[in-house]
Amino acid sequence: MTDEARERWKQTIRTINDFPKPGIDFKDITPLLADARALREVVDEMAQPYSSMHIDSVCGIEARGFILAAPVALKLGAGFAPIRKHGKLPYRSEAACYQLEYAEAVLEIHADAVSSGDRVLIVDDVLATGGTARAAADLVQRLGATVSGVTCLIELSFLDGKTKLKGLDTHFLITY
Ligand code: AMP
Repeated sequence: MTDEARERWKQTIRTINDFPKPGIDFKDITPLLADARALREVVDEMAQPYSSMHIDSVCGIEARGFILAAPVALKLGAGFAPIRKHGKLPYRSEAACYQLEYAEAVLEIHADAVSSGDRVLIVDDVLATGGTARAAADLVQRLGATVSGVTCLIELSFLDGKTKLKGLDTHFLITY
C-alpha cells in the first residue's frame, strides 16, 4: 500500500462529531465505499496479508463489517460467516458479552458457522476500544477454530484497542 493511496482513502472518510452521541467522533466510511477505486483497493489490502494462509472462513461483524468481509472472503477463496448483535441469528448460537463505554453488549455466532480447526479471519470497519473484536475472537475460538487475524479498515489508536487483541495477528489500513 502506498502513502498516496492511504492518503486518498483517508480523504474519503468523513468524521461526524457527536454521533451517535455527544463526544463520539464517528468515522463515516460510506463515501469510501461509494468510490469504486478506493473500495477495490481497500478490499485487496485487507485480504493481502492473509492470501497464503489458507483462510477457511471470514467472519464479518455486524453491520459495517459485513460490507467488507464478504468481498474479502471472495478474494481469499473463503466462506463468509456473520457475527451479529443479540437476537438476530435464527439458529442455535454462541454468545459473548462485552463492555461498551456505558453499557454491556452481546455478540452472537451460529454454532455451526465455523468448525473446529478452521482458520478464521475477523473483519470490521473500525477498531476502537477493541471490545467488539475481542468478543468476536472469543466466539470463534470457543467453536474450536483458530483466529488467523483481525483486520479493520480503521484503527483509533488513541483508544488502544490492540491491547485487547494481544497474541492475535492484526492488520489496520488507516490509523487515527
Ligand atoms: P470497540 O468495541 O470499542 O472497538 O468498537 C468497535 C465497533 O464499534 C465497530 O464495530 C465499529 O463499527 C463501531 N465504532 C466504534 N467507534 C466508532 C467510531 N468512532 N466510528 C465508527 N464506528 C465506530
